[in-house]
Amino acid sequence: MSLSALVTAGPTIERIDPVRYISNFSSGKQGYAIAQALAQAGIHVTLVSGPTVLDEPKGVTLKTVESAEEMLQESIASLPVDIAICSAAVCDWRPKEYSAQKLKKLSAQETLELSLVRNPDILSALSYHKKRPQLVIGFAAETECLLDHAIQKHKQKNCDWLVVNDVSEGAVFGADENQISLLKKNASIEHWPRMKKTDIATQLVTQILAVF
Ligand code: C5P
Repeated sequence: MSLSALVTAGPTIERIDPVRYISNFSSGKQGYAIAQALAQAGIHVTLVSGPTVLDEPKGVTLKTVESAEEMLQESIASLPVDIAICSAAVCDWRPKEYSAQKLKKLSAQETLELSLVRNPDILSALSYHKKRPQLVIGFAAETECLLDHAIQKHKQKNCDWLVVNDVSEGAVFGADENQISLLKKNASIEHWPRMKKTDIATQLVTQILAVF
């Protein structure tokens, strides 16, 4: 059986003006490792990635995007797929208005107000889509009450599995190792030992293949 997968990875960047943006510290390493491991298992992979410094994984179709809205469009365009893995650190907000001209400095006494609006939730869009992939996997980066928040997120976002990691110490972003817990639909939780992101990817793919 030939399977297909969509992986979202990396941060999104949300432009303020031609030279400035808001973003986050995601490196994209975990998502790229998952895309690579899926491709090595013979799965046809579309990797929709925000800006990263990583090499293009071999054997995947890479679609590079900047913003959450672009990531959503490319992700929906890749449907139907059997598996969706949303590992991207999508910015929750974007500037309400984009300034076509570089914003000017104000006087030292003035403050610049930046209004932000909510970005679309790509994971939810996929998991509630009429072409919903059979297996939808989300990520949760939490800094407190890890499992309570994760259980809530798992339900709200209608995903089958949720990969939970603790980012309170900043030990995950950019690192080559990660420590995850895997929450599945029947509410079972597996706590995995700390290991390389590439090993997490391989073991996750083994569990994914067991579903099909
Ligand atoms: O709500 P939170 O951002 O913690 O959820 C994390 C999960 O949701 C991740 O799988 C992430 O890729 C996904 N997400 C998304 N679109 C957003 C926000 C989060 O796909 N706008």
